[in-house]
Amino acid sequence: MRYSDQRKRLVQELVEAGITDQNVLKAFEIVPRELFVLPEYVSYAYRNQPLPIDSNQTISQPLMIAIMLEKLRLNRDDIVMEIGTGSGYQTALLSNLAKEVCSIERIDILSLKARKVIDKLGYTNVFYKIGDGAAGWQKAFPPYSEFPKIIVSAAADKVPSMLIKQLSDPGILVVPVGGSNIQQLIVVEKSNSEVKESVHGGCSFVPLISESE
Ligand code: SAM
Repeated sequence: MRYSDQRKRLVQELVEAGITDQNVLKAFEIVPRELFVLPEYVSYAYRNQPLPIDSNQTISQPLMIAIMLEKLRLNRDDIVMEIGTGSGYQTALLSNLAKEVCSIERIDILSLKARKVIDKLGYTNVFYKIGDGAAGWQKAFPPYSEFPKIIVSAAADKVPSMLIKQLSDPGILVVPVGGSNIQQLIVVEKSNSEVKESVHGGCSFVPLISESE
């Protein structure tokens, strides 16, 4: 089956699993996941499952990404901070949904590889940083001090305080929080100077490795 048909089938699976945000579904129909997986996993690219990438990390499960993107309630004016570039697949999806994406990855070879694929696809609204994303995006170009939307793609043991600080008001932060095997998806909403957290079911991510609070 052609990749474009496999993408359509994946989108149908996402719809059947309850994803309704049309912009999110459209992004999944556009971004070629086969370019973000290792060559030996290309035939599994459109299975709704995480897959191994370099450095013992994973490309996230499409449904999990879709759930997180939906929770972010993205619009085209949003500047998004993403922690955990990984393969760059979710970064490319975000690039279709937001004005700018500021993506942080701690492993340099992953960031550089992701950038290569995303550049090749022609996306120009992504900024990359190599470092500890739990410390947020500081002293770098572009000089944003706050982000209306933040997405963390690795499991934290608690919501990183620096990310709450760098969340705009109003703003939404989505982050998996919990132990090494299973976590809860936490949505943090900042509004009128109040910060509220809600829990949205179980998930399983590689750990967020951080020295930050
Ligand atoms: N969403 C990505 C994709 O579609 O390919 C997958 C992300 S993978 C599950 C999690 C990534 O978070 C890994 O690449 C890991 O190196 C990165 N990571 C872990 N701790 C980090 C930190 N403190 N700062 C930045 N990146 C981090």
